[in-house]
Amino acid sequence: MSGSYVSGLKCRLCGKHYPKEALNFCTDDFGPLEVAYNYDMVAAALSRGAIEARPRTMWRYRELLPVDGEPTVGRHVGCTPLIRADRLARALGVSELYIKNDAVNHPSLSFKDRVVAVALSKAVELGFQTVGCASTGNLAGSVAANAAAAGLDAYVLIPDGLEQGKVLGATIYGAKVIAIEGTYDHVNRLCSQIAFRFGWGFVNVNLRPFYAEGSKSMGFEIAEDLGWRAPDHVVAPMAGGSLIGKIYKAFKEFEQLGLLDGPVTARMFGAQATGCNPITNTVKTAATKVKPVRNPDTIAKSLAIGDPADGFFASQLIRQTGGWSEDVDDDAIVDAMRLLAETEGVWAETAGGVTVAVAQKLIEQGKIDRNGSTVLCITGNGLKTQEALIGKIARPVVIKPTMEAFEALVEAEAPALAAAGA
Ligand SMILES: *Cc1c(COP(=O)(O)O)cnc(C)c1O
Ligand SMILES: [Zn+2]
Repeated sequence: MSGSYVSGLKCRLCGKHYPKEALNFCTDDFGPLEVAYNYDMVAAALSRGAIEARPRTMWRYRELLPVDGEPTVGRHVGCTPLIRADRLARALGVSELYIKNDAVNHPSLSFKDRVVAVALSKAVELGFQTVGCASTGNLAGSVAANAAAAGLDAYVLIPDGLEQGKVLGATIYGAKVIAIEGTYDHVNRLCSQIAFRFGWGFVNVNLRPFYAEGSKSMGFEIAEDLGWRAPDHVVAPMAGGSLIGKIYKAFKEFEQLGLLDGPVTARMFGAQATGCNPITNTVKTAATKVKPVRNPDTIAKSLAIGDPADGFFASQLIRQTGGWSEDVDDDAIVDAMRLLAETEGVWAETAGGVTVAVAQKLIEQGKIDRNGSTVLCITGNGLKTQEALIGKIARPVVIKPTMEAFEALVEAEAPALAAAGA
């Protein structure tokens, strides 16, 4: 594999070109930098057949991911199940529904393994030995796990007060985990200063252009698993607002390379929690700037970014594709987590509850067409946000170890069953 598929970095505002380096903003206008590809070369190398012949990991699309050599970190990430969710579809009143289940992504059970695989493979290429991140929880675990497996030193900065599962799920890998008294936006600002001062590779700061491209793999997989087509609707949770745009970019790249049947007509729908809804607000008010939320307050901590780096681009994309964005409160999030679990056997974290509850709201509003195909992006695992459920769902019934006790229980709960057994 040659490195020339990537021609460099490019400013999203003025278009100025930069070499492949650890830099995330344009030095002229501070616009965000994005990876630029040589698509003619990609087209010559990539076909449906070539992709299908490769192992089922996100690296089967490697010409469209920004590493120059063979990937060295996160080689088993991706190709999570795309589940046809007929029972949830019936509950929501739609005909064709799918769940993209990144709750079971390898190794750290969230979609963040995709972005980290790319960012850390690139960090190794660029010669970094120490890496880090500013995290709302899942990135912490993914950087810690993947850095450990690659023999890199990791500094993980999080806002104080994250869920136990997120904190333990980073510390167990030997990363230095540092909790900051403040919001994610304080953490992120500090990380920008640390990356600059110490010359380390922060996956979502100075390595952000490479990092963000990893999210495209979710879109590639959705399109391939739908039989080389894009769905009519995608509902994606939004924190920094990067994932939703990269899923769409993935569809458009496949279209441009002639890999899809039919044009991309997907409408993109963004999901946030009411306690932190800066992007949803921007969409609803058609604002030209994202108004930051100063003090996020939601059980969906993984989405609690008050000043989202890609919020404006996300809001524009949502409007341009004819989509919409909604937010839901904590009770609706928990109800939706239960609905997803009870209908499809998928235990998602709070962000998954946000996605399902927002989808439900958009279907009821008529914004999502009941007859179209819809993909819900489930991005994290319920094992990591148990606090959200404690006191909200039934506790086990405790009985004596006797048949009488069990019979009395069944008699009380389901008299018909008890009669049938008698
Ligand atoms: C980070 C994260 C997101 C959103 O990612 P952005 O690209 O920052 O919008 C969604 N879901 C979960 C569970 C996450 O951890
Ligand atoms: Zn620029």
